[in-house]
Amino acid sequence: MSKILIVAEHLGGKLNPSTAKCVSCATQIGADAIDVLVLSDTPDAVAAEAAQIAGVSRVLAVARAENANPVAAILAPQVARAADGYSHVLGPSTTFGKDLMPRVAALLGVGQVSDIMQAGGPHTFQRPIYAGNAIVTVEAPADQVLVGTVRTASYPAAAGGGNAPVETLSLDLALPAHTRFIELKAGKSDRPDLQTASRVVSGGRALGSAEAFGIIEQLADKLGAAIGASRAAVDSGYAPNDLQVGQTGKVVAPELYIALGISGAIQHLAGMKDSKVIVAVNKDGDAPIFQIADYGLQEDLFTAVPAMMDALK
Ligand SMILES: Cc1cc2nc3c(=O)[nH]c(=O)nc-3n(C[C@H](O)[C@H](O)[C@H](O)COP(=O)(O)OP(=O)(O)OC[C@H]3O[C@@H](n4cnc5c(N)ncnc54)[C@H](O)[C@@H]3O)c2cc1C
Repeated sequence: MSKILIVAEHLGGKLNPSTAKCVSCATQIGADAIDVLVLSDTPDAVAAEAAQIAGVSRVLAVARAENANPVAAILAPQVARAADGYSHVLGPSTTFGKDLMPRVAALLGVGQVSDIMQAGGPHTFQRPIYAGNAIVTVEAPADQVLVGTVRTASYPAAAGGGNAPVETLSLDLALPAHTRFIELKAGKSDRPDLQTASRVVSGGRALGSAEAFGIIEQLADKLGAAIGASRAAVDSGYAPNDLQVGQTGKVVAPELYIALGISGAIQHLAGMKDSKVIVAVNKDGDAPIFQIADYGLQEDLFTAVPAMMDALK
């Protein structure tokens, strides 16, 4: 019997859509029960949101002042304690989950299955290796709790319309004081979140400067899209590094991904090749990005992008 605990990701009192994607994974595993754990200082609003995800059996809300900010070192012992009686503990393979879940696995004395992209049963999973160029099937031991991260680009968010009960959980354990929250430095933007946006406009080294990268922002704003960047664009200082898409950046799977002046190195493709429609603009007709693009335009981006924006007027 699979009883699955999902750690909710949230910020600023809002549930991240990655949680509903983990629920889809738990459903695919064939869970008999899916509980969502909300760790916060004030969990009510997030717990109420989680309760509406279809397929959720219960929401467990833990209110502690130490949970005001998502510090993995402080959350992990609570998740490990709450995991008692569960067959699986899942979190998203976002920055939040990648930080937290290995600590949970270590505290429980088990390994972790990372980046689950498909479940063939309670202990059989597919996950990408070699920057997504090969898929490996992993058989996890059935006699111990399974800790896993769910590749959010591989699962749709579970539907809303649920009405799960919310229960208060008190975890009586001392929390570590060696790690403290100092501040969160995040780019302030009204644009959609890169990892959950339905449209992404990404720029590469071809932009040539941070000023020129502004053209990516203008097109993104016209389309209501999030902004992404190649590692070369990030390393050159044209875009902040939280916008990097790829093997060592974010993995995205939007409805529309527009790659402007990006060559299509395998490490970049690892982060965006599951996008539903890929549009590429590149001067070089032999650029590898054209091999995976649904629509390719061999053109100078500084000509193509203004033309796109004109067409959107
Ligand atoms: C371990 C490792 C991890 C990595 N992780 C990542 C990662 O997460 N994400 C990532 O992106 N990369 C990653 N890389 C780097 C990756 O290998 C590439 O170097 C990088 O993706 C190249 O970025 P780019 O396409 O912007 O630049 P380039 O490869 O230099 O390509 C620029 C493209 O722009 C085109 N171009 C130039 N001028 C114009 C113009 N005016 N109009 C239109 N097109 C133009 C060129 O034809 C070229 O195809 C990683 C590498 C390693 C080794």
